[in-house]
Amino acid sequence: MKEEISKTYNPQDVESRWYGWWESRGYFKADNPSHRPGFVIMMPPPNVTGSLHMGHMLNATVQDAVIRRKRMQGFNALWLPGMDHAGIATQNVVEKEIAKQGLTRHDLGREKFVQRVWEWKEQYGGIILKQIRRIGASCDWSRERFTFDEGLSRAVREVFVQLYEDGLIYRGKRLINWCPRCRTALSDLEVKHEPKESRLYYIKYRLKGRPGEYVTVATTRPETMLGDSALAVHPEDGRYAKYAGSAAVLPLIGRELPFIQDPVVDPKFGTGVVKVTPAHDPADFEMGVRHNLAQISVIGEDARITAEGGPYKGQDRMAARKNVLADLEAQGLVEKTETLLHSVGECQRCATVVEPLMSEQWFVRMKPLAEPAIAAVESGRTKFVPPNWSKTYYEWMHNIRDWCISRQLWWGHRIPAWYCDECGTMIVSRKDVVNCAKCNSTRIRQDEDVLDTWFSSQLWPFSTLGWPDQTEDLRKFYPGSLLVTAYDIIFFWVARMMMSGLKFMGDVPFREVYITGLIRDAEKQKMSKSKGNVIDPLEICDQYGTDAVRFALARMGAPGTDIALSEDLLESYRAFATKIWNAARLIFRHVDESDRLPFFGELRQPDLALADRWILSRLARAIDVANTSMEKYNLHEATRHIYGFFWGELCDWYLEMVKLHPERSKPVLIYVFETALRLLHPFMPFITEELWQSVPHRGESIVVAPYPEFEPELIDAKAEAQVEIVQDIIGKVRNIRAEMKVEPRQSVVVRVAATDPATKQLLLDARDYIFKLATVGELQVVPSLPEDKLAARAVAGGLTIEVPLAGLIDIEAERSRLNKELERVQAEISGLERQLSNASFVERAPRNVVDEKRQRLLDYQNQAVKLRDSLDRLR
Ligand SMILES: [Zn+2]
Ligand SMILES: [Zn+2]
Repeated sequence: MKEEISKTYNPQDVESRWYGWWESRGYFKADNPSHRPGFVIMMPPPNVTGSLHMGHMLNATVQDAVIRRKRMQGFNALWLPGMDHAGIATQNVVEKEIAKQGLTRHDLGREKFVQRVWEWKEQYGGIILKQIRRIGASCDWSRERFTFDEGLSRAVREVFVQLYEDGLIYRGKRLINWCPRCRTALSDLEVKHEPKESRLYYIKYRLKGRPGEYVTVATTRPETMLGDSALAVHPEDGRYAKYAGSAAVLPLIGRELPFIQDPVVDPKFGTGVVKVTPAHDPADFEMGVRHNLAQISVIGEDARITAEGGPYKGQDRMAARKNVLADLEAQGLVEKTETLLHSVGECQRCATVVEPLMSEQWFVRMKPLAEPAIAAVESGRTKFVPPNWSKTYYEWMHNIRDWCISRQLWWGHRIPAWYCDECGTMIVSRKDVVNCAKCNSTRIRQDEDVLDTWFSSQLWPFSTLGWPDQTEDLRKFYPGSLLVTAYDIIFFWVARMMMSGLKFMGDVPFREVYITGLIRDAEKQKMSKSKGNVIDPLEICDQYGTDAVRFALARMGAPGTDIALSEDLLESYRAFATKIWNAARLIFRHVDESDRLPFFGELRQPDLALADRWILSRLARAIDVANTSMEKYNLHEATRHIYGFFWGELCDWYLEMVKLHPERSKPVLIYVFETALRLLHPFMPFITEELWQSVPHRGESIVVAPYPEFEPELIDAKAEAQVEIVQDIIGKVRNIRAEMKVEPRQSVVVRVAATDPATKQLLLDARDYIFKLATVGELQVVPSLPEDKLAARAVAGGLTIEVPLAGLIDIEAERSRLNKELERVQAEISGLERQLSNASFVERAPRNVVDEKRQRLLDYQNQAVKLRDSLDRLR
């Protein structure tokens, strides 16, 4: 044994030791050039403002387990890390910061403000990348990128100009989502729709040329009526056919409104007549285009009523609603109001109610880009794991709308368009423009707006590799192999990367997309700050050890499945790490300086012990299942088998069995333990490195040691079947000993009924294991069991066995003990039965209390059966 490992397992101690060393040895660095096949994962860049939450931890655990295994398998593995400049999110953080000094961004001006954001970024940004190191993520930090760094900004500009030249980017006045607080346009995806209780107002509109006649219109937003340009009904709604060709008069304003017919009107909503306000409602906007209606903007970017709103000009939209209603009321034009639940759009960042507004913005035409991206998933060039997520992807892609990409922010990639104030020409250019291309004037200004953050994130799979330059990295590492992400950004990010990858690289950006689930608390509740049930990943890593947390996440995280994270769960995987540690200490007792790791060929000696043949076979099977599961990204299956092998087979059985012949089994013991550490490494990187360094091994670090491969020659079905019988006999004898309260040190006699020679031979060969592991002094193999009333019987491995009890226990004392115990258990049973037969208790008590009592009753009933069995034996 080269180095003594500490007596108790201390995860913090172990975990602080390795990361820096791994990084300094360059193990995480992908080679270029390299003859080895590549395996590439692009880390979803976290926001620069972010800090690690459980979602990141799950995401990083999956990516790290996959990439570590691939690296060990000899792939040229690249896991590229980086961060997103996160336009709105970051600007909001810095705005809040300067607000503490009573400043707004306008007080500083654009240049100073942006400089301030950069300073913030240098000082506080990117905490998350340190945290990602802390959890063992084996990223290639030499290739770290930021969406706002120089190279990536060049890629953004190149993409913008190319799309513009291809006619896929245009500038136009459209109805967009506007956040009056952030003072910026938002894409549809950045608007959260929340069901809210609102009021539905029924308002009477007078009909032109028909004195005393009215139609009633239902609306949740009376203030927008100031911008009405028509009334609409469904073409087949007979009730209103008589008004075709006539007009109504807009209350308060007096504008004449034509009656139009349009199939989108729902005859069942309100009265079946709706007001059409093209400048403030998306459906009305489309209707307005179809019927050539005026777009009258009555609410401005500040959410106040514009000059078009007549007497309400300057009022805030909420105040205007009140005033409009009061005036309508005064004129007797409010017929009634109702409450209803309807969805209200809110800004994803600040929860302000979003205002649909007419605004001059930049858009990407998405349909032509979406088509090849749909085809790529249909043809299987990119696969979703689990596959059902492709449905979500198709649904959105088939209904895709143009993407509003301009944002009225200062932090972000500025739109590369310039306007000449002399002649009005607009120039879109890769290089900064100083002279007008048409009139040569220098009175030129750049578009004030910046691009939606996702415009740069969508280029991540190739902009990070040096595109638009044709770099070596780009040739080697595009397309990537795997993307690991949560389902909430399939549209924001995954779909857009597909589109831009196909457009600019001519190939999909990744072959597979693994969708992770959400992490919930122990009660399966979503974690949220308001509920106070948020789990901090670093806190639980400190408490339970990073290896244990990682293993728990991998074990529970089937693709696309939510994880309920409980303390019990984390506790049990910390216990697993401790179990491995203690196993290592036991093994190291038999290993010394001169021992070396045997080669595979050296293992197949004819004189291997039964336990050795068995454990090698079980190891081979665990390796087989782990590998096939990992290929399908079923990390939960891989970890389940690795755990079962380590704990249930290696620790609980093999280590006990080899105590009988430690010297003889030493090569196998070293081989199995060293291999099992490598098998476990992708999930528990720290403890495996620590122990691997102390066990005989070949190579410098477990990080770059080969991943175990299935060795069919090690499968020994006969040894497995035999050990199964032996285990069953040992287990049954242990049960009998425990039930009959046989003193632990008191050895017992076991009789087995067996006639067939193979079984007899096995029992002879395996005798010592049974002696040692069940404290048995004598094993009698007999053709049939004698009539011994004072013996406990059981069936084990298809054989009937018995343990004679005469002389082993004080029969009288045991009988009275059992009787007392049975009385106590019976009292419990009748108590519980009484409670559970009380209907009003069962009805009123909380569900879990009743369930728990039922379970306890069942347990006591089982105990009673066993106690009676034991008493029967003593009769
Ligand atoms: Zn907002
Ligand atoms: Zn000009």
